[in-house]
Parts: sequence; C-alpha cells; structure tokens
Amino acid sequence: MADNRYEQTLERLSAYGQEHLLDGFRTLSEAERERLLDDIDGADPAQMAELYQKALRHQQGGEVSAAELTPLVPVDADQLPAEERKRLTDLGLALIKAGKLAVLTMAGGQGTRLGHDGPKGTFDLGLPSHKSLFELHCDRLRQVCGIAGAYVPWYIMTSELNHAATVEFFRESNWFGYPADKIRFFPQTMITPLTPDGRMQRETPSKLLKSPNGNGGMFVSLKKQGCLAELQEEGIEYLMVTGVDNCLIKMADPLFLGALAADNDAEAIAKSYLKRGPAEKSGIFCYRGGRPCVVEYTEIPQECAVATDAAGNYVYGDCNLLAYVFRMDTVAKLCETGMEYHVAVKKLKYYDPATGAQTEQAGGYKFEMFLFDAFRALRSLKVLRVKREDEFAPVKNLTGEDSAELARKMYVEYMKKNKIQMQTPLVEMDGDEMTRVIWAKIKGLVLEPFVDLNTEYYDLSVQNRDATEDRVTVESALATKKHGVAVKCATITPNAARVQEYNLHKQWKSPNATIRAILDGTVFRAPILVDGITPLVPGWKKPIVIARHAYGDVYAAVDVKVPAGGKAELVITRPDGSETRSVVKAFDGDGIVLGMHNTDASVANFARACFNYALDKKLDLWFSAKDTILKVYDGEFRKIFADIYENEYKTKFEAAGIGYFYTLVDDAIARVMKSEGGFLWACKNYDGDVFSDMLATAFGSLAMMTSVLVSPEGYYEFEAAHGTIPRHYHKYLRGEPTSTNPVATLFAWTGALAKRGELDGNAELVDFALTVERQTLALIASGRMTGDLALLTTLENKTVLNLDEFLSEVAALTARELNK
Ligand code: NAP
Ligand code: MG
Repeated sequence: MADNRYEQTLERLSAYGQEHLLDGFRTLSEAERERLLDDIDGADPAQMAELYQKALRHQQGGEVSAAELTPLVPVDADQLPAEERKRLTDLGLALIKAGKLAVLTMAGGQGTRLGHDGPKGTFDLGLPSHKSLFELHCDRLRQVCGIAGAYVPWYIMTSELNHAATVEFFRESNWFGYPADKIRFFPQTMITPLTPDGRMQRETPSKLLKSPNGNGGMFVSLKKQGCLAELQEEGIEYLMVTGVDNCLIKMADPLFLGALAADNDAEAIAKSYLKRGPAEKSGIFCYRGGRPCVVEYTEIPQECAVATDAAGNYVYGDCNLLAYVFRMDTVAKLCETGMEYHVAVKKLKYYDPATGAQTEQAGGYKFEMFLFDAFRALRSLKVLRVKREDEFAPVKNLTGEDSAELARKMYVEYMKKNKIQMQTPLVEMDGDEMTRVIWAKIKGLVLEPFVDLNTEYYDLSVQNRDATEDRVTVESALATKKHGVAVKCATITPNAARVQEYNLHKQWKSPNATIRAILDGTVFRAPILVDGITPLVPGWKKPIVIARHAYGDVYAAVDVKVPAGGKAELVITRPDGSETRSVVKAFDGDGIVLGMHNTDASVANFARACFNYALDKKLDLWFSAKDTILKVYDGEFRKIFADIYENEYKTKFEAAGIGYFYTLVDDAIARVMKSEGGFLWACKNYDGDVFSDMLATAFGSLAMMTSVLVSPEGYYEFEAAHGTIPRHYHKYLRGEPTSTNPVATLFAWTGALAKRGELDGNAELVDFALTVERQTLALIASGRMTGDLALLTTLENKTVLNLDEFLSEVAALTARELNK
C-alpha cells in the first residue's frame, strides 16, 4: 500500500520535475515516510509550475506611473458632525447586537523580531498589567460587546508554526473571560517557495519547506478551513479584519461598521491615517486605473508622494492602517476568485539530501497574496480617516520606529487621554475584610475603565492601623481637610475578639470616631430607593434622611466601673480654679458610670449643617432629643437649634416653604412611623447611629443607604453605613463567590466623585458618577440584583447575581450609556 502511494507520488512529482523531493525516501522511518507523503499531497506542483513561470517573468504588476493614479478622498472621522457620528455608531451597535458582525485577527506571525519566543499575539507589551497583545484586543472587544449586549464571534488566523501555541495560550488564560465558543482559531494556508531552478525543497528529510501565503491568503484559508461556510450559516453580514500587532486597534469599532453599513455603494471600508511626510513607510490608498487600491511606499511615484493641494494637504496622504470591514458577500466573492500571488526574491534555507545538512541559496522565490489586492476587485472602497495617535501603534521591533517601546507609550497616553481626568485628588481610605474586597472590585470593574483615578491613598486596614499605631487614620483625616473630599471603606472597630483574631497590639479606637472627632460635623444618611424594593412601613412614600451629629456623646465618653461603696462625682474645675461638684451616685453595690460631653460650637455646627441641608434639598427639618430628662444636656441642644433657627434661617425656611420643629425623641419615633417620609430628621450622635440602621432596614437594607459626613468647614467624607461583612468575607476566603451587595460602597465612591467634580467644575466626572448611580438602580429595577435584595423584592422575575456579575453589569450599562 505504502509502496503504491510512493509510486503514485513519484509519478505526480516527475511530471513537474519535482521528484527530488523523494530522494532518500527509503532511509526514512515508516512514520517519516507517511509524514512526507502527506506533506507532498497537500502541495500543488501544477500551481507551482505556473507560479515559476510568473516568477521568471518577474512581473510585479509593473512600475506604477503617476498617470494611472487618482486620489481617493476619505471620510474624516473627526470632521463628522456629532449627530452623524452617533447615528453611525448606533447603527454599528445595532448590527453587533443583532449578531451580524464577526472579527478576524491575522495572527500568524511569531514574536522573533521582538525577542519573544512564541506567537506574536502572546507578546507582553510591558504595561503595568503585563497584558499580551491578544488580551489587549480582547479587552477592547469585550468592551464593545458589553455596550452592544452581544458577543461578537472572534476568528483568529494562526499559522502552522504557531497554531498549537496560540490555542494553548488562550486556554491557559481562560480565554480572557471571553466565551470560548465565540473564539475560533484556524491556520493560514502555507505555500512552498521555489529555488531559482523552479524546484520545491524540504525543510527536513520528512517535511516540505513552506511559508505562509501572505495576508491576502486569508480568503483562501477561510474557505479551506470551513470558516466561510460557518460565517454564512451564522448569518454574519460583515467581517472586520485586523492585524495582531496594532495594540491600539479598535476591535469591532461600531462607528467603522456603521460607516460601511450606511453606505449602500461601498463593498468594504478601510481605515487610514494621514501620513506625516512623503517618506512615511506605509501603503497609500488611491485609485489605480480607476480601481481602489493601496500603492506601496516603495512603488509610489515621487511626484505623487510629495503632491499637495491648495491647502497644503497631501493628495496621496492616506496610509493603510490595516483595519477593514468587508460585506460578507464580498468576502465570499474574494474566497472564490482568490488573488494573484506576488513574487519576492529571497534567500532560502533548506535541507540538501546530497550533504544531509542545511544549505542556503540566494535568488529563490517566495509567493504571497496581499490583502490590499482585494480592493482592486471591488467596485467601491470607502476609506475612513482616523487619528494615527489614537488607533495605530504597531508592534514590530523592540526599539525605534514601530517598536514595542513606542507602542507602549502610545497605549498609555491613549488610555489616559480617553479617560475622565481628575484635577484634584480624592482622599481614599481603604478598609477591611469583605468591604476591602468590594473596594478593589469597584475600582477595577466600574471606575478605572472610565476615570483616570487621582486619589491619595491611605490604608486603614486594621493591620496597618496597628502597624502605624493608628497614625494612618489621623493622617487620612488631615488629608481630608487638605483636599476637601474623602471616600472611606468600612473598617473593623476592634473589640477583644478582634484583637486576638488579628493579633493586634491594642484595641484601637473606631476609625470613624477618630475621623469624626477631627473633622467634626454631621453625618447625613439617606436610603437608596429603587423600584421593586418596597419599604417595610407601608406608609413611607419618600425617603427619610437622617442627620447624625458626628461629635461627642457616647463616642467620646469616659466610662468606668465603680466598686461597691464608691462615690461618683462630676467635678468641674473652672479657669479661675474654682470647682463645683455634683454627686452622680454613691454606690451600695458594684456599678458603672459614664461621663460624656459635647461643645456648644459643635452643636451649633451640627444645627447649621442641618438647616443648610434642609434648605438645599427643600425638606422639612425635625430635631429630636430628650430634654425632659436631660434638661441641661439636651436642653442645650434644643436651645442652640432654636436660636440659630430664629436668627439665621427662619425667613429662608419660610421663603422655601419648609418648616422646622423640635420634638421629643420618643414622639419623633411615633411620628416617623406614621409619616409618609420626605423630611430630614436630625438626631444626636447615638440616636442617629441606631435610627439610621432602623431606617435603612425598613427601607430595604443597610447596603442600600448612603452616608456622608459634612464638616462645618465644608469637607466631605463619603462611606457605606454597614460594616465589613465578616460572614461573606469568610466565604470569599474559602474561594466561594458571594452575592454581597456593593451598592452602599459604590455610592460612597460615586458620591465622592460627584462632589469632587462639583467642587472642581468637572462636569464630565459628575455626569459619570450620576450615570453609574442611575444604571445601578436600573439594573436592580430590571430584576438583576444581589441575594439580600432578592429576598426583599416584589419583582417577579429576578436573577441573583454574585458580586462580580453585579459590578460587571453596572459597568456594561454605564459604558453603553456613556458610549465608550
Ligand atoms: P456588618 O458588617 O454590617 O454585617 C452584618 C450583616 O448584615 C451581615 O452579616 C450581612 O447579613 C448583612 N450585610 C451588611 N452589609 C451587607 C452587604 N453589603 N451585602 C449583603 N449583606 C450585608 O456588621 P457587623 O457584622 O456587625 O460588623 C462587622 C465589622 O464591621 C465589625 O468589626 C465592626 O466593627 C465593623 N463595622 C464598621 C463600620 C464602618 O466602618 N462604617 C460600621 C459598622 C460595623 P448576612 O450575614 O445575613 O448575609
Ligand atoms: Mg451603626
């Protein structure tokens, strides 16, 4: 049988003078023989004979003459009116959503010139993230998919050399989180080069010498590997084609797609960038003999290369950026007709059976098809001109022109430029346990893709507070005074058990208490209302906002044990040295005693903060305390509020149609329960702590409450009202996904960013923060929420999302809204 096959192959080869490929066949092992015969079966000696004739004539398409060329006028993406941009982008997104687009990355190359041993796409660009070119492409693709709400099939054309390594790289990287069934790898077809005598050669005794058939070979390969049929079956109408080495490529760019789809005449669209000078080493889009084409920089007549119009712009100035979208019927046509091979005269290295070693020979012929030849087969090609610095950073060499070094710089600059900038830093106070995990995820998934975050970071984890003897907490509060706005993560307030758990030196004070003592002021807590989560108190229709005094009382109290027979007295020593003593209690048995304080100044600040907030939000203000019992202490609060109201706010309140009244705290509770909401309730420190939790729970959950400390000087500290959620943290540490609700922490960030934007006059930042908030609520209202809310919701169709899913969906909705 094998003999038979040998004879047949020999006969086939002899007809074309290629029988030398079987020299030494008998010395090969059985497996090697099979392999060689398979290889030869895949080659086409008849086609090679034709190509040889062509090579001898060495027709490169002839010299390009200036008379043949006419300019091809591009559409300048930057000059499109905003409405037109939006129309085309929306059209592109709609097509993506409808599953009409596939993208194809030509990734047959190796990273050899980059000093990288592996497929070029696996090259690490050296960014802080250490992402490979493939991953950068995938990030971009995923972003568009997130906006469009559908995954785009991604075809990756490998070569025989790197196919297995490429597939393995994606598998190891878990497909970068892209659905594996949406990624299809297919190898590019190879073709044998010829020595000057027209002979095919071997690379090893059992393997033919082959090289990839050029980027234009993509069409032949698509068909050969069954991808064409697959694309047609899937109903794909547009194929976007790009190279792997451009790290700024806009994968699945909706504007690009829309620009083709909106133009019934164009069969394909290509991107260009304006050349920087006549010597730019890039092919130029133009018409040749009335057909669209790309003329290589080596071929373009000098007079055309330098020609400019009246305004001084290059007439032949649009460089090939290597990004195209073809209509699918055009692809099918090109797959059928194929393209002509170009001949390149190259030195070949191959196996010489006479010596049994490798030999080198100059003047050999390599054959390649060029993708841009495809354009000559088209009736009409549209060209979209984009900015080079935004979209073209090819990675070809390690240094110099088109280098990884340059591409890296361009990538970083582009990403910076396209994110929202912050003029002034935000004070970032990181915290503990599950909320620390949520913190990092919020930054990575929701904020950093859009905002070039400018924060001054303080690590308030219990470990770092311990290591710095809690100086870090004080420093973070002082930084808040400097920059004006802070965002704080929940932190552990150590008790005896926590001291043991985290092996702490001391039972450090509550960071919140430390910060509030430094900043003073008032904490405003408002429930986050969302459709589908109804308050437990049926009468509540509007939010009830709590204003909690942040200074003094039990949080800055001295409490001590008193032994039986002891006497507790309150001693006031005045500046003149005189004293008054009040007996608190003479103890018969063991007991306890508490001394707490407040200052008139802090209470006045508290009062003004409440009056201002009420005016700002047009809410009635209630203030509750217990002055029937604490006649002096709470009486002072009541009096300060009343005086300030009379003297400073009464007329403003009346003008705004809102009111202020004082009532006893127990009466306030009764009224709150019977109210329909929609007012500001000012509470002393401890009352505010307790009642805000009650309100949050009754309105839905502690994770659905915003909390901000406003200091009398106008500093803001945003935080979540809940704790570090240890039960979820332990689950997370076991590697289990948790359905923890990040809304309160997310809204602490958005609150802080919006305030930062407001203070800096940064409308874009404010808009971003409000968009995230709106999209978060929209997501929950659509029935997609975390487990805690799923237990409460009245919505029938609900889906429980884990933390990552929830934040990713918020990010996707935000991206869609902001058209990023
Ligand atoms: P917590 O962390 O608020 O958690 C209490 C329970 O409430 C959780 O076990 C969980 O219920 C539920 N919960 C709270 N937030 C949630 C969220 N975002 N998503 C889903 N469920 C949520 O209170 P804690 O357990 O009393 O305190 C833990 C630590 O936090 C303590 O060390 C405390 O000092 C600290 N703390 C810090 C702050 C702050 O820094 N602002 C405030 C309060 C407490 P399930 O377990 O039923 O799911
Ligand atoms: Mg509390």
